[in-house]
Parts: sequence; structure tokens; C-alpha cells
Amino acid sequence: MKKAFLTLCAAFSLFAHPAGAVGPNDIERPKLVVGIVIDQMRWDYLYRYYDKYTEGGFKRMLNDGFSCENTQLNYVPTVTAIGHTSIYTGSVPAIHGIAGNDFIVRKSGKKIYCTDDNRVNGVGTNLPAGKMSPQNLLVTTIGDELRLATNFGAKVISISLKDRAAILPGGHTANAAYWFDSHNGHWITSTYYMNKLPEWVENLNRTNPARRLLEKDWNTLYPIGQYTQSTADDTPYEKPFGKAKKAVFPIPTSQLLKTEGYGVIRNTPYGNTLTLQMAQTAVINEKLGQGNETDMLAVSCSATDYIGHQFGPNAIETEDTYLRLDQDLADFLSFLDKQVGKENYTLFLTADHAAAHNVRFMNDHDIPAGAWNHQNVEATLDSLVKADFQVEDAVRAVMNYQVFLNHNQLKTAKANIKHIKEAIVNHLQKDDEVAYAVDLNEIATSPLPSPIRERVINGYHNKRSGDIQIVLAPGWYEGEEQGTTHGVWCPYDAHIPLIFIGKGIPHGQTVREIHITDIAPTLAALLKIQMPNGCVGTPIAEMVK
Ligand code: ZN
Repeated sequence: MKKAFLTLCAAFSLFAHPAGAVGPNDIERPKLVVGIVIDQMRWDYLYRYYDKYTEGGFKRMLNDGFSCENTQLNYVPTVTAIGHTSIYTGSVPAIHGIAGNDFIVRKSGKKIYCTDDNRVNGVGTNLPAGKMSPQNLLVTTIGDELRLATNFGAKVISISLKDRAAILPGGHTANAAYWFDSHNGHWITSTYYMNKLPEWVENLNRTNPARRLLEKDWNTLYPIGQYTQSTADDTPYEKPFGKAKKAVFPIPTSQLLKTEGYGVIRNTPYGNTLTLQMAQTAVINEKLGQGNETDMLAVSCSATDYIGHQFGPNAIETEDTYLRLDQDLADFLSFLDKQVGKENYTLFLTADHAAAHNVRFMNDHDIPAGAWNHQNVEATLDSLVKADFQVEDAVRAVMNYQVFLNHNQLKTAKANIKHIKEAIVNHLQKDDEVAYAVDLNEIATSPLPSPIRERVINGYHNKRSGDIQIVLAPGWYEGEEQGTTHGVWCPYDAHIPLIFIGKGIPHGQTVREIHITDIAPTLAALLKIQMPNGCVGTPIAEMVK
């Protein structure tokens, strides 16, 4: 009987793996995985400007790759640090611990920036811009898992103008993360990664790439009359550069460099060009995709976010930025084709969040919207608690659409926290622009519609989030009346592009709801490695054959 069983097994295994077929011992992995995050890219930008895109950029990705057309952020607040972390960890703030760009640690009452680390120093700068690391990240990234799976043979490098958009995607064991120092116009890192910049980074910095780009000034790529997807160039919805009275083309970036410094490149399409140029230089010099193990490159294009905040989604500046980014992406893809080989890399493109339309623009078209002033709310709540409960400074902050109570103060005053929270919730709910205000300890039983409730729960870290969640009415945001912002659950902030292309990726698309947290487990499935240790997402089955 035993012999017969063994024979049967042998027959089955022969059947499953005929000679030459791919079996479990013949794992075909790409030589390089490339992640590209376009900061603040709305999903609809793929189609809004489609007719003006070149053949080699976004169009190539859509026409050759696999597009997940309904990818959503499954948490709030929808901000940069959380988006980048959730993409690469497959996890949510409740678990990965990145509860905002800034957050308040409940125990100490201390407000911290997501990647601050006083124990390390800058490399390539002496300024605080370099004192950064992933120490506040509580879980592994897909890059960490790739390093672990290859016994640290794989190289993982991440690059962005923004420190947080470089550091958080790389994870704890990245070989390097590089970000931009607005003071000296150079690419920098920190002693968390290394004690000296590699020679190729120093050489690149010596060529002063930021200055060379800014000296070109910024005019529209095509005659301005062709920008029919946007409002007129001169509108009250946009924030001008520096001391300029109007936000109009041409934008004299060579002059702005003198008055505003290198940081101005962040608010021009040249910021993306600079980032992708740095990425190319890294691929060449670090020989990414040339070794025995799969390497990973995480690139985040941040200029789209700074430009989006300044001008909003309906500005010619924004349209021109995407047309130029499309050309830069086409160049980057054809560079990878040549350098790594078309059959050797897998690339995905997504965003960390999207953005709302400008509130005044919406009002001018009779759509409800408005700017909500969180500082006024903070002061009002403080005086409310003082009057009703005789407790001073009860509110530590209103940020990330949450009220953070001053727990140390409340403890000293022996205050009844439950009653204070009830009073704050009742007060907030009176405002028309507040759809809901909810005690985060009672969120599971609150009357929020379940898709919103799930996002609030996923976004709540019990040691780093606030005490009361504020959900504004759709169209409303915390911020100014010029430009725009993001941060809420609504589709305009939470619906992002997600396209995979390259080795192992079939052509196709799906409109099934996919979450930002599904990206990392999909990569894990493609690479046949373990998913990150806080991952709550699932692989995109339609794509992983
Ligand atoms: Zn962002």
C-alpha cells in the first residue's frame, strides 16, 4: 500500500512538472523591482490628459501593463507619510505606526515629525534636514523582506525630494535613502545609512543639477492655448510664487532661485526631472538589476504634490507638470529597457494620495465646499473646556482631523475625560461643515457609514493618534482658500492610480476595489518572498498568474 502511494506521488509530480516546465525550483524573478510614487496624483489624471501624453510614458503603462482602476486608500488621514508607508508595508497606521506626517505621542505629549531622529546626523549636510531615519516605523517594508529573503544580497535604494518619501519606503534595512536638501541643493542622506556619501552622489552633486534645471525657467511645454483641460492661467484659485502678484506663466525660476533658494525646485516640474535623473544615476552606479539577487528601487516624485498644493487640480501649472512628467517617465522607462533589459524588471506606479478641487473654484461652480480653520477650532474647544470643566489647555492640538487632548494636563487636574470628550463632540457636531465628530474609543459603535468607519479604525494608532475624529462634509478641507490639499476619506483624496508593468505582468485592467495595502503583498507574491510583517492586504489575484 505504501509503495503504491509513493508511485502515485511520483506520477503526480511527473505530471505536475514535465521536463522543462517551471516548477518550484525554477523561480523566475525580475532582476529589479521599481516602485514609482507620484505624490498627490489623482487617478483621473491618467485620462484627463491622456490625449496629450506621449506613447512612452503613462500611455505605455496603460497599454502594456495591468491597471487597477479602482484603488483606494483604506484609512484616514490620507497624507504623504502614511501613503508611502502603506504602499511599501501593506499595512495601515493602526499597525505600522506612521499616524501622520506629524503626530503626538500620547504618553509624552510630544509632537514628532514622522522621520525625525536625533540620534543620527546628516550626511552631505550639517542641518536638521539630515537628522532622519525610519525609527518610528514599527513594521517591515517589502524592501526589508527582500533583504531578509536574500540574506541581504538584494540591494534596496530609495530616492525622493522629500525625506519621508525616501526613508519610509526603504524601510529599516535599505542600503540607502537619499533626499534633497533645499539649503545646498544637494542629495543627502543620514548616518543611519552611511557615514559618507558614495562618490557617485558627490560627483552628481558637484554638477549642481538643481541649478542647471532652474536656470531654464518654466514656460509651458506647448502653446498655452492648447491647455484646454484647465482654467485660464490667471485665476484667484492659485498661490503665486514668492513675491509675485499673480500665478501666471512664464515662471522665472532662474530669478526665484536667487530669492527663494534651491527649495523652489520642489514647486516646479524640474523637481521630478531631478529625482528621475538621480534614480538613473543610482541604477547605473549601484549596478541595480545586474547582480544575482532581485534589487529594489523606490522612487517618489514629490514635485507634483508641492505644485498641486500651490495651484490645485484645475491649473495650467498642474496640467503642464503632468505632461512634462509623462515625458520624464517615458525617458526613464526607455533607460530601464536599455540598462536593465525590458524582460528583467517589474515596475509599478501609484500615488500616496490624491487631492480635492480648490474650494473657491467649486463654490464658483455652485458645488458645496469650504476651507475649515483648525486653529480657530482649537482655541474654541480650549475655552469651552475651561468654561465648563475649569481645566486650562485641555486641547493639545487639532491636527490630522483629530482632536488631541492634553492627557498630562487632564491627569493633573483629575478631570473627567469622558465628559470632556462628550462636550467636545457635541460642540463640534453643531457645525454644518462637520459631518461627524466621534470619540475614537467608541468608534466601533458610532453611527458612521461602515466604509468611513473602517477607514477611521485603520487610521487610528492608540499611542500616536488623537482622541476625537472629525469627519468634514465632502468638499471641505483643513487649509487655505488658494491651491488645494488632501487628507480626508472622500474619493478625490483616496482614489489613486495603480499600474504594474514588466516581467510577470499580464496586460489588462480591473475595476474591482483594490486597496493601497494590496501593493506590497502583490509584490511579495510576484517575488515569492514573505509579505511584510504588519501586512493586512491581499495579492491582486487577477494580475499574479
Ligand atoms: Zn503626498
